Amino acid sequence: LPLSIRRQRQMCIRDSAPLADALATTPGPTLVTATAGTTDAGLIDPLPAIADLCDHHGADLHIDAAYGGLLALSPHHRHKLTGLGRAHSLTIDLHKLGWQPVAAGLLTVPDTALLAPLAHQADYLNATDDTEAGLPDLLGRSLRTTRRPDALKIATTLRSLGRDGLTHLIDHTCKLAHHLARLLDAHPRFELHAPPTISTVLFRPTHATDDDVATLRRTLLHQGRAVLGRTHADGRLWLKATLLNPHTTAGDLDTLIALLEGSTHR
Ligand SMILES: *Cc1c(COP(=O)(O)O)cnc(C)c1O
Repeated sequence: LPLSIRRQRQMCIRDSAPLADALATTPGPTLVTATAGTTDAGLIDPLPAIADLCDHHGADLHIDAAYGGLLALSPHHRHKLTGLGRAHSLTIDLHKLGWQPVAAGLLTVPDTALLAPLAHQADYLNATDDTEAGLPDLLGRSLRTTRRPDALKIATTLRSLGRDGLTHLIDHTCKLAHHLARLLDAHPRFELHAPPTISTVLFRPTHATDDDVATLRRTLLHQGRAVLGRTHADGRLWLKATLLNPHTTAGDLDTLIALLEGSTHR
C-alpha cells in the first residue's frame, strides 16, 4: 500500500508527526517514500527521523534522491543526506547533478536479492545453459532489454573527471545558486523564498501578485530570453531558477537579474 502523506514533489516533510500517525493507523505492508531533493524547491526530507519511524513500524523506506543523491560525492554537502544509507531502495538521476544522458537513472538497493522481482527467463535472451556457462544476463538488472549503451558514457565521465572532478562541478553549481540567492535577497525589487538547499532558488518580485509572477515568467519565455520554472510555496506563486549548468558564470546571473528588472516595472 503506497503511502503518500504529502502532495507529490510539492513539499518536504518538515514535521514527522503526521507520518507517525499514518504509520500507526495504516495496515501493512507499507512503503514510505521520502525525497532527497524535491523537484520544486530542492528540499530534503528529515531522513534519519523518517528511517527511525519506518524501523519502528516495520515499513520499507524508498528514497527518491533523483535530484539530491549526488551531493553524496561532496564533502561540503553530503551531511545533508545523512540517513540515505538506511533506504531499502534508492533512486538517483545521473542526468541532473551528474550531467549524463537522460536515460542515466539508477535504482539502487543494499542487497541484490531485492532485485529478484526483475528477473525473467526468456529462452531467446538468457537460456539457462548459457547463463550457467557464464554469458552475461541483463534481465534481473533492468526492466528494459533494448537500450542504448549509456553506461559507457557514465563510465567515460567517471574515468575522465573522477570523483573529484564531479564533486568540483557539483560544489560549483551549488555555489552559483547561493550567489544568485544572495543577489536576489539583497535586491530591493525581489524577494527570496529561502536560501537554497541544493541548487534551486525560489524568488518573486516584491509587491507582485501571483498573476504578475506568472506573466513575468511567460514574457521572458515568449521573448526567448530566459526559461524560469514556477511553483507554489507557502500559498504564493514563485519563480524558480534551478541551476544545473556548471559553466554558468556570475555574469550570466547578473544578466538574468537585469532581464528580470527590465520586465518588472510596475
Ligand atoms: C527529476 C526527478 C524525478 C524524475 O526523474 P527522471 O529520471 O527525469 O524521470 C523524480 N523525482 C525527483 C525528486 C526529481 O527531481
